[in-house]
Formats: sequence, structure tokens, C-alpha cells
Amino acid sequence: MKVELLSPAGDLERLKIACSYGADAIYIGGRDYSLRANADNFSIEDIKEGCRFAHELGKKVYLTLNIVFHNEDIDGVYDYIKAVVDAGIDAFIVSDLFLVRYIKKNFQVEVHLSTQASVTNYLSVNFLKQEKIDRVVLAREVNRDDIKEIIEKTGMDIEIFIHGAMCTFVSGRCVLSNYFTNRDSNRGGCAQICRFCFDINDLEVPFSMAVKDLNMALYIKDMIELGVRSFKIEGRMRSPFYLAVVLSSYRRLIDAVYNNTLTDDILEKEMKILSRVSNRENSTHFYFEEASLKDQYYTGRQENSNQDYLGIVMERQDNLYTIRQRNYFKVGDKIEIITPNMDIINLEVKNLYNEKMERIEVANQADSILKMELDMDIPIYSMLRKPYIS
Ligand code: SF4
Repeated sequence: MKVELLSPAGDLERLKIACSYGADAIYIGGRDYSLRANADNFSIEDIKEGCRFAHELGKKVYLTLNIVFHNEDIDGVYDYIKAVVDAGIDAFIVSDLFLVRYIKKNFQVEVHLSTQASVTNYLSVNFLKQEKIDRVVLAREVNRDDIKEIIEKTGMDIEIFIHGAMCTFVSGRCVLSNYFTNRDSNRGGCAQICRFCFDINDLEVPFSMAVKDLNMALYIKDMIELGVRSFKIEGRMRSPFYLAVVLSSYRRLIDAVYNNTLTDDILEKEMKILSRVSNRENSTHFYFEEASLKDQYYTGRQENSNQDYLGIVMERQDNLYTIRQRNYFKVGDKIEIITPNMDIINLEVKNLYNEKMERIEVANQADSILKMELDMDIPIYSMLRKPYIS
């Protein structure tokens, strides 16, 4: 069975974009009980629509229910689960074991154990198998040998994070945010304190605990050969552009592995693309050896905001395209359009209008609606960007 490419989506639009750019499955959060309270998150109606859209394309939707439940969080969760099952969800991603038996006993739906449960060994996985869990998302801190041994000794469906931000602490075991901002990291409130810069007496430079991002692109083939069942991308708060670029890159890599066409040149090219869309350096973290100094930023550093994303195609009427703008561009600029079909179209910006169809020369208001005349066929959700590498 081909490995699954699993994408995050913070809202319905991003779910549709993820489906369009090569994800096989999408994980989302509801308005309650999910660890990304800052994402827009999905109402029951959104979940219904998301499942309908994904299922029509043969894709799956998973819902995270992975907060650390305190007594006060339990009220309402059973009704919520029923409503989500009725909305058509394919699996729940849970971390608290009381939910496992409840869901398995009452519904025909898969249950995946969240990375928040920090599973790192085959005995735990075998125990979870007896509890009828369908999949385990291993802790991000597990190395290659352990992944291999866990798969060999359990035969469990194993999911691994392959790309995106890491926690400085073992995922799900950090309360920095609670102490600094009174927001519970494990109930959706993480304020990413580990990325802050601190002034510390006697240190000449600001101190930071931030870690580099995870990037496993070079080892996709190796992980497929180990028998990993699902490759997960981190980031329900990430932009549509980030999702489109990262998903298409991994889609091309996975397909190249299965088609026996993967080469060093392809790997090098995809690594350049993935580095460009990221605002941090990257590393393989725990995969080959214990994470160390090389995987971390100890001193203060700037997060570079990415200006490549110029806009997204939202609608089309004949040759007039509606675009939601993101970053500055102007008439005369040479830009690229990337499409869900993986095409890259180079063009010069010519006929540009505002929402009232008044001609404009410059697009300089983030999130404004623009119109652009284009003499070509471009699908919805294509992205306008600054020219990348050839
Ligand atoms: S503060 Fe950092 S380490 Fe702690 S939960 Fe948030 S992202 Fe993870």
C-alpha cells in the first residue's frame, strides 16, 4: 500500500487546498478539544463540508481530539464525538486513553493515538493494538532504528512527522506557556515561548530555546522502505502557500520513489524549494542520532517572513481571474503561477484591476481582492509567487 501524505488544515479553504495539492488525507481541529486554539478551526458544518469535498476526491479527513483532558473538559465531549462522526469524519486523533474504548465501542470509525501520548517503544504499541487502536503517531523523538523495530515487532499502522516545527520539549510535556502567559499548552493555548528571546544576566546575546524545523525530504525513500504508513506534515496554522509548496514537493518525491525515478538532482531541487518556503533552518532531529546543539538556536535570531507568496486564484470568469493578494507586486513584474496539477507558468503581470474593476498598477494591500486578465487556463487555488529556481 502506498504511503499516505497527511496534511494539516486550519480551516475549510486550506483543507480544499491540501486536497488539491496532493494530500491523501487531512487532519483538522474542531472548535473544542484540539491543540491549536489559534487556528480558525472547524465548526460541525465545516467538518461536514470538508468531509464531503475530500471524500469526493477519494481522500480522508481526521479530527484531532488531543488536548489533555481535565475533569472540566469532559462535559459535552461524547455529544461532540457523535456529531463529528455524523459529519463523516474518517478517524479521531486522540491522546487520552478514556476516549479510545469509548469511540471504538460506540462508533465504526478509526482511532489514531496522537503524538501527544509520546509512544516510543514496541511494548506500548502492542498494548495499544490490544485496545484496538488503528494507528499510532509515534513521538517525534523516536529514532530510525526504533521506528524499524516497532514496525517489525507490532505490524501496527505507524505515522511519523516528516516536516515542520518541532517542540523544544517532548511534545505534549511542556508547560512553558502556562507559566509565562497563563495559556495551557496542552489545551490548545501554546504561545510558543520556546521561540522567544530572553535577556539573561552575563550573556551578551539574547538566549533562545528554539529548535530548527524538521525536514525528512532526503530520507523519504528510506522511511517508505521501513514500512511507515503515513507521513505527516506539521502546521495547522500555516498559510495556503506553505501548504501548496510543501505538499507538492513531498507528493513529487513520494511518487518518484514509487515510480523508481528518484534521483539526486530531484532531491536537491526539492530541498531548495522546501528551504525557500521555510523561515527557519532545518534538520532531521532525532532520526539518526540524539538531537544536539546543531539542531537548535541558542542565541536570538530573526524569523524571516516569507514574501514569495503573492496571491491565490479564488475564482474565474472567462479570462478574468479573481485573486486574493498576499504580498506586494506590480504591473511589469515577472512572476510564476504554480497550479494544483504541478505546472509552473512564468508570466509578466499586465492587466491588473481592483475589486471595482478599476485599473491599478500596484497590488500592495494584503488580503485585498484583485482581478487579473490572463490569456490561459489556470485552475482555482493556483498560487502566484515570486520566481523560484528553474
Ligand atoms: S512552548 Fe515550545 S516546546 Fe512548549 S509546547 Fe509550545 S512549541 Fe512546544
